[in-house]
Amino acid sequence: MGKPTGFLEKARSDRGYAPVEERLKHWHEFVKPLPEDDVRSQGSRCMDCGIPFCHNGCPVNNQIPDWNHLTYLGEWEEAFINLHSTNNFPEFTGRVCPAPCEESCTLNLNTFVRPVTIKTIECAIVDKGRENGWLVPQPPEKKTGKRVAVVGSGPAGMACAQQLARAGHDVTLFEKNDRIGGLLRYGIPDFKMEKHLIDARVAQMQAEGVTIKTGVHVGKDVSAKDLAAQYDAVVLSGGAEDPRNLEVKGRELKGVHFAMEFLPQQNKRVAGDTLPADQDILATGKHVIVIGGGDTGSDCIGTSTRQGATHVRQFELFDRPPQAENKPVVWPHWPRKERISTSQIEVQETYGTTTEYTMVTEELIGDEHGNVKAIRGHQASITFDGGRPVFNKIDDTEFEYEAELVLLAMGFVGPRKDDVLADLGINTVVQRDALGRIPEAPADYKTSLPNVFAAGDMRRGQSLVVWAIREGRQCAHAVDEYLMGESVLPR
Ligand SMILES: Cc1cc2nc3c(=O)[nH]c(=O)nc-3n(C[C@H](O)[C@H](O)[C@H](O)COP(=O)(O)OP(=O)(O)OC[C@H]3O[C@@H](n4cnc5c(N)ncnc54)[C@H](O)[C@@H]3O)c2cc1C
Ligand code: SF4
Repeated sequence: MGKPTGFLEKARSDRGYAPVEERLKHWHEFVKPLPEDDVRSQGSRCMDCGIPFCHNGCPVNNQIPDWNHLTYLGEWEEAFINLHSTNNFPEFTGRVCPAPCEESCTLNLNTFVRPVTIKTIECAIVDKGRENGWLVPQPPEKKTGKRVAVVGSGPAGMACAQQLARAGHDVTLFEKNDRIGGLLRYGIPDFKMEKHLIDARVAQMQAEGVTIKTGVHVGKDVSAKDLAAQYDAVVLSGGAEDPRNLEVKGRELKGVHFAMEFLPQQNKRVAGDTLPADQDILATGKHVIVIGGGDTGSDCIGTSTRQGATHVRQFELFDRPPQAENKPVVWPHWPRKERISTSQIEVQETYGTTTEYTMVTEELIGDEHGNVKAIRGHQASITFDGGRPVFNKIDDTEFEYEAELVLLAMGFVGPRKDDVLADLGINTVVQRDALGRIPEAPADYKTSLPNVFAAGDMRRGQSLVVWAIREGRQCAHAVDEYLMGESVLPR
């Protein structure tokens, strides 16, 4: 602990944002980094607890008290090395992680003293390292001669490929899209995370020996069975791409799209691509309704606002979470409570609407040309029957709102079943329970086939970038152990 009295002397302060009016004019990140002296004094607030909880709250088990201390001392390069010992891509998590570590910080046990700004310090360490040229390739000292195919280049595939290459294996990373990064590239908008950060990591991985093959859809362009025969091991990290559908009358109307039909287009435009005009899905000049109150829904409303929608509403099926948690009951775990995203603030300031809860959609109404023009439904009270939610209509809450673009952001039910899994004869990587939930996934990252492993959202269901990195790292350990009999890679 750099300064035993730090948390008594310094209040928490965190990164701010550019004003809404300014940030809506562009697609860049708008978080304002803290000045270096402030980051260091925020690091001094860490109590270096005898039993720290933050590093267990963090899915990659970042050694948070250690690098908080190093940051306070200004030993940035040591902090950079320490941070990378547990996290391959802290510049991703330092931008988009919801920071469960901060919920489990001991300072957060008390309602009046707020947690250490862990995510901001993480981001400052890696950004300083990037500026100073410390982000260099770490090629292996010797090669093993073993070949591994990694299918899917989201954060799980990237982390797994990087770890395996550093262990000396010949790794080929297959990606069906034209660019590497998975949902980091084509789900998360540039205003949350700019894509040059992925490009820098791709260059690092290539210099470490990873062969990148984009535009190759495994299970369609090449056979997954062939890969399993030709390579010593195969890792499946294809994400959970099957979106939850809205099964109501009018679903087939033009102007009703899944979020992941809409969001990738904007990321491609920002990257300089030109899309065929007849395929454009744009919110410009339209009444937009986004169904889904999570991260994906937020990204849809933020993108629609920047595209110049006439009006934006966001519906959530479930009820509004409590404003604050009961800390003695839930700490150090991740609490269910209301979290207002930066995109929701933008919508509020631009259109005066806030997320509407318990909104049940009954029907999408079309015009004479088959275009959606309105959405009809009611509000519901929610009860549970054997764990399943039951939506009970509340009298006199019927609504009908104008909508020329309806975006479905209601989550993902699991991996696609029509390509790599079908090809290999694996129906589902992880068994689900009767309610469709994924129980604790097996720790060995194995599938039912001997040399085929799985990691990330494809294995555990839709999750977070930080969990994908953890899965990629742990899966690399499992593959290395399978190939070599033992592994020096961290678990
Ligand atoms: C819109 C949106 C916003 C999100 N925002 C956040 C956020 O702010 N913070 C956060 O922590 N998490 C967020 N998430 C969740 C997070 O992005 C995912 O949990 C994470 O990216 C999962 O990583 P992954 O590597 O398992 O899979 P993915 O990122 O889904 O990557 C899978 C990759 O595999 C490729 N692929 C699939 N099948 C094949 C095949 N057969 N052949 C070749 N390639 C294939 C896909 O094209 C894709 O590139 C968000 C998700 C979405 C949809
Ligand atoms: S990766 Fe996420 S949970 Fe871990 S230290 Fe960073 S912000 Fe916290």
